[in-house]
Amino acid sequence: MSKLIFEKSRKGRVCANIPLLSKEELKPVSDFMPESYLREENPVLPEVSELELIRHFSELARKNFSIDSAFYPLGSCTMKYNPKINELISRNEKFTNLHPKAPENQSQGAMEIMFILGEYLKEISGFKAITLQPAAGAHGELTGILMIKKYFEKRGDKKRNKVLVPDTAHGTNPATAGMCGFKVVELKSNNKGQVDIESLKSNLDDTVAAIMLTNPNTLGIFEEDILKISSLVHNAGGLQYYDGANLNAIMGIARPGDMGFDVCHLNLHKTFSTPHGGGGPGAGVVCCNEKLEPFLPLPILRKDNKGKYFWDYDRKDSIGKVKAYYGNFGMFVRALAYIWANGKEGLKQVSHDAVLNANYLKNKLKEYFDLPYDIDCMHEFVLSGKRQKKQGVSTLSLAKRLLDFGVHAPTIYFPLVVPEAIMIEPTETESKEQLDNFVEIMKQITQEISTKPEFVNGAPYNTPVRRVNETQAARNLSLCWSSSCN
Ligand SMILES: *Cc1c(COP(=O)(O)O)cnc(C)c1O
Repeated sequence: MSKLIFEKSRKGRVCANIPLLSKEELKPVSDFMPESYLREENPVLPEVSELELIRHFSELARKNFSIDSAFYPLGSCTMKYNPKINELISRNEKFTNLHPKAPENQSQGAMEIMFILGEYLKEISGFKAITLQPAAGAHGELTGILMIKKYFEKRGDKKRNKVLVPDTAHGTNPATAGMCGFKVVELKSNNKGQVDIESLKSNLDDTVAAIMLTNPNTLGIFEEDILKISSLVHNAGGLQYYDGANLNAIMGIARPGDMGFDVCHLNLHKTFSTPHGGGGPGAGVVCCNEKLEPFLPLPILRKDNKGKYFWDYDRKDSIGKVKAYYGNFGMFVRALAYIWANGKEGLKQVSHDAVLNANYLKNKLKEYFDLPYDIDCMHEFVLSGKRQKKQGVSTLSLAKRLLDFGVHAPTIYFPLVVPEAIMIEPTETESKEQLDNFVEIMKQITQEISTKPEFVNGAPYNTPVRRVNETQAARNLSLCWSSSCN
């Protein structure tokens, strides 16, 4: 694009003609703002006409990829379609105009929403207590592991300085354990893509505080030995953390609480109807059992015997607050609307359909790609692009070529245990026609890889920005609106 068109600002151009206030009508700004906060000069902002402004934002919106535009099989992220009615409900002025500092007697309705949602999420996860505060999955992990840390401190058990994490774990798990001051010990997976019991046994001793697991794990495989793992960890005096970022495979079917976990987080922005991918806001609520309940962040939402909701701050063992106020309320409204709209049977159906879609795609695609773990998967599965790599095309190039077909690339090079990994999560909201279309596209790309690999290596061809140097693009970000500033 030429510099001339990129730079839209022209001196003196304005968006709208609003009559200026007269001197008499103007209140001195210092009436409502301290002098020290006032600017001395006007800010440097683009000067554009209203039409140019609208065109600029419309163009950006068109370039933006989202689930509303096309298929988005980004494994581990659960990029499902979220019903628009939930958006509408969460934007109701009665919610959006409610200030978080409003007194309890004026916030009973909002508190009731949070309370009822909490009850449902406890039931869905199989736990006794909940906090809605954390704003993301990683934030939920931090909350849960700090609670585990405090649990051992309180018991005077000072030796427990290790957290076990399988080699398939999401990167946030070891990062969280490290942030909380624990030593991270990696557990090997076996040839079924599950935690290797011998590797677990050899690492269990009285220095282990916890194990962090996601089940199904990031290979999309259900840990068959989960009850054995739980009893081994508990017998060694450790606790079990469940990474429930994606509950899409097991909702209404299996519960982390019943699998023997002590604490878990759930990403409302993955499973429970909040659009995501744009960086938030999210909700990584944390559920736990009686053992860890005293350590939950404050305040805890309770209902007194007259049916009135109140915030309980009287909690001496709490890890404290993890977020201002009570969490991202809009997510709670969406999640409750989603749970109510689906009902008990509907939520189960969501999981059945998510698992069906993943297995359908897996079985179609294994004709064209290596499938390192060929067993029934849960809501996602992981292919390997090893065969294509031997033909001179890496998984990265394959992902780039997919963009030319208007499809978002799957998650690639994760989990780390699969070379040239392609991690696909179709979700329950895609139709059979969309899935078949994706299979056709993948098939066509594998044919291109065999016949003209250099062509695939040059992809993408149809996107607004062609292939970028990924390292440079991440290190030397240019976030300037103007072509002259850098
Ligand atoms: C997405 C995800 C997380 C992190 O959640 P954020 O909300 O992005 O912080 C953690 N674990 C797993 C398995 C995930 O898929």
